[in-house]
Amino acid sequence: MTGTATEPMFRATVLTLYPEMFPGPLGLSLAGRALENGAWELETRNIRDVATDRHRTVDDTPAGGGAGMVLKPDIVAAAIDAACPEGDTRPRLLMSPRGKPLDQARVRDLGAGEGAVILCGRFEGVDERVIEARGLEEVSIGDYILSGGELGAMVLLDAVVRLLPGVMGNAESGETESFETGLLEHPHYTRPQVWEDRAIPEVLLSGDHGRIARWRLEKAQGLTRERRPDLWERYTPPQTGRKKK
Ligand code: SAH
Repeated sequence: MTGTATEPMFRATVLTLYPEMFPGPLGLSLAGRALENGAWELETRNIRDVATDRHRTVDDTPAGGGAGMVLKPDIVAAAIDAACPEGDTRPRLLMSPRGKPLDQARVRDLGAGEGAVILCGRFEGVDERVIEARGLEEVSIGDYILSGGELGAMVLLDAVVRLLPGVMGNAESGETESFETGLLEHPHYTRPQVWEDRAIPEVLLSGDHGRIARWRLEKAQGLTRERRPDLWERYTPPQTGRKKK
């Protein structure tokens, strides 16, 4: 199914103060099976392991005052350097609400690469100088604040791993999914044919694949226009499809 020695493998290294959170949900279902099969590899490193003082300090108070604590640049740099041997060209990501919002295009991009080194912030965040000095790419999973980067890292890895070769049973389902086509996906139905007086749309039982495909495209376009005007704005319909209205 996956993971012959010659295939490129996706290697994820997560730098965190809470390594015991991993693999967590990534150890189950699709991602977990892929981990077992060797389609990807997960290394978790405790940032605190590089702290050498008596209290194994990783944070300090913010310069200029204010609430909370900031992860120290020397500690974060040491953790990154220990995790990335020379020649490690994997992208270095910092989970951060200030980052570029993660989208399916970036997920695809990452999945096509060798892996990623992911730094999970905690407290108020990370000293700005180490973000610059180690060229960290800030990635956000949405416009809300989590208490740490770990759940963000899991979201990102879950999205990437399901696209790796051999991981998803039905490869086609990856291509029609929401966002892949620039549209939200059409609605789904399954048996029973009538449930609580609601019938499956007749076209889906017609066996006419052309009609079904047109119906699905129309539904996807309608949903996207209604719910996500931002996506609709950027959408280019397929050549054979109807004009965008
Ligand atoms: N003070 C920061 C928030 C810190 S939250 C601010 O206002 O921007 C603590 C950590 O949680 C962050 O360093 C980051 O690693 C993670 N985090 C919080 N929200 C996130 C989001 N939307 N996407 C990705 N990571 C997030």
